[in-house]
Amino acid sequence: MNDSYINSFYDRLPGSYLFSTIAKKIKEYQGSHENADIIRLGIGDVTTPLIPEVIKAMHKAVDEMGVKDTFRGYGPEQGYDFVREAIVRGEYTARGIEMDPDDIFVSDGSKCDVANIQELFSGDARIAIPDPVYPVYLDSNVMAGRTGILQADGHFSEVTYLASTAENSFQPDLPRNPVQLIYLCSPNNPTGTVLSRETLQKFVNYANENGALILFDGAYNCYIQDETLPHSIYEIPGARTCAIEFRSFSKTAGFTGVRCAYTVIPHELSKLRAMWNRRQCTKFNGVNYVTQRAAEAIYTAEGWKQTRGVIKGYMDTAKVIRQELTAAGYTVFGGEHAPYIWWKIPDGEKSFDFFDRLLATCEVVGTPGSGFGPCGEGYFRLTAFGDHERTKEALRRIKERL
Ligand SMILES: *Cc1c(COP(=O)(O)O)cnc(C)c1O
Repeated sequence: MNDSYINSFYDRLPGSYLFSTIAKKIKEYQGSHENADIIRLGIGDVTTPLIPEVIKAMHKAVDEMGVKDTFRGYGPEQGYDFVREAIVRGEYTARGIEMDPDDIFVSDGSKCDVANIQELFSGDARIAIPDPVYPVYLDSNVMAGRTGILQADGHFSEVTYLASTAENSFQPDLPRNPVQLIYLCSPNNPTGTVLSRETLQKFVNYANENGALILFDGAYNCYIQDETLPHSIYEIPGARTCAIEFRSFSKTAGFTGVRCAYTVIPHELSKLRAMWNRRQCTKFNGVNYVTQRAAEAIYTAEGWKQTRGVIKGYMDTAKVIRQELTAAGYTVFGGEHAPYIWWKIPDGEKSFDFFDRLLATCEVVGTPGSGFGPCGEGYFRLTAFGDHERTKEALRRIKERL
């Protein structure tokens, strides 16, 4: 085949996907250390099994699929009403936010949604992304040709970066150049920090005044422990005319393997809402029935209690990581309202070098901060998704050997 008609924007992607690089390094280490006992505090995947309420709902739904009267074929592309209504009740009404079930678009993942949403916009729309952040926002825009080229300093020429560092308490300033699309992620992956009400209001005002759109990723909203912190962009006055929200059951309820998420596009954004609906109807055929029943079950009284219990377990682990690293004299951020701890690496060591050193001395794996953006250099991400006792063991090793 002739290369001249392939999408050459893919050539602009910086190397291989972060986690493949890391997986390769671990494999190499295991290859040369037969008895390696590696503790993984790296990849952002859950480890606690599904809650009993979810399993019960799935079993019931499976049984329905085996009976002629209750069998279901294609469902609505937007999701079944029962789950859209449960989401509105459990996530929005419960927090005093008005939401129409018709504004909820159920999907098989937030990764696909945040990556696909950019196709609603023209090629010359300018984007702003937090730095550091989940790499999908940037990479999906690189593939679409919206970012310009990668420069020596690690920045793409046409992207506006919203630096989120200890210096600004992880509350980024407004974009300096005009932009049309603003990605925000709160609680943030990888820093584990939360955007304040003031910061969000500033961005909402900017978006409304400049005709920009906020793409708000709230994948970790359920980890916020302080009820006064904003859980949804729609808690901010003015957000309904300028913001789309992405939510996922992956981290909320351990659905990383089950696959279910949703995107919220309020009626006020009628044009975009109609476009997304058209897009989903053309390119997506809905989430399977069993999974949607599973998602619905999270919002029963018992389901919610069990879900909170699992999250509490992860947050207890996050607390241990924070405490132990702080006690050992390190500076850490996050881990209070998110399952991520953002570890400041001492002595200006590069985060990928620190990765190698941590693996070699402690057989502990984390994620180099620079993989999430230039401002992530000098930091390291640990996650609280691992087994509690194994995480404690990792911290013992860090204290003794690092
Ligand atoms: C894990 C994660 C998601 C969820 O992705 P799914 O495709 O729903 O599993 C979305 N955004 C961020 C920032 C995440 O870390």
